[in-house]
Amino acid sequence: MIVKHIKVKTALSKSGLKELDYSLNPYFGCAYACTYCYARFFTPQKEASEKWGEVIYVKDNLIEVLGREVSVYKRGIVGVSTITDPYQPVEGIYRLTRASISLLLKKGFRVSIQTKSPLVLRDLDILLERKDLVDVGLTVTTLNDYESIEPKAPPPKARLRALERLSEEGLETWLFIGPIIQGINDNEVEEIIEEVSNVKTRIIFDKFRRYPGLNYRSGNETWWKTIKTKILELCKRYTLECHEESEDWIYEKRRFYKPLF
Ligand code: SF4
Repeated sequence: MIVKHIKVKTALSKSGLKELDYSLNPYFGCAYACTYCYARFFTPQKEASEKWGEVIYVKDNLIEVLGREVSVYKRGIVGVSTITDPYQPVEGIYRLTRASISLLLKKGFRVSIQTKSPLVLRDLDILLERKDLVDVGLTVTTLNDYESIEPKAPPPKARLRALERLSEEGLETWLFIGPIIQGINDNEVEEIIEEVSNVKTRIIFDKFRRYPGLNYRSGNETWWKTIKTKILELCKRYTLECHEESEDWIYEKRRFYKPLF
């Protein structure tokens, strides 16, 4: 892994995702190197994008820039992160995610964290101080042979334990099952949902979307309908709140922007 440093002009970006107002990515590139990852296609730093999983850029002046932005930007929901994992190993050294979240919460921004790493538990102290402004999602796509698709990511069972702990601490949590890829991990949804059936958490799921250069097929509508029906039935059986990713924003916005609905 090569770690490089960069200075940035902006910290928050307007998010294209309906459930978020802004995104914040403390690093360019991601050490976890998931084979299905499409974040690389949205990464503006060329080297980190082309050598995905091999080169990480640390945004050295991120906190200084974010400090200026949070004083003038309208408050909103910030996704941490959308094109990198905010708790990948470099975060253990540079702590940019922790400092960013701390600053955002102090200024009254809502923070929606998504990660594959139990390192998020390190920041429980700051998350619990403003639990009214925080939600945390852990991603699990498979419980078996995860290294073939997420070669450098933490073990899925460790992610699930982190999710359980966050939930027990009273934080709003969600499990993200995705991307679900036909013939790769679509036969594991039942096992994953069973694993979290005793955790007070919401489930969000999504199918794989094909990008040039990714060698997986995107399943057809009939396949997705079968998988979706199966997931919704399982969630009903275990009384878990469950939404497809494309619909979850409606529930999110309803929770935080009640006047809009
Ligand atoms: S953890 Fe997320 S951002 Fe990192 S490689 Fe995997 S899918 Fe991409």
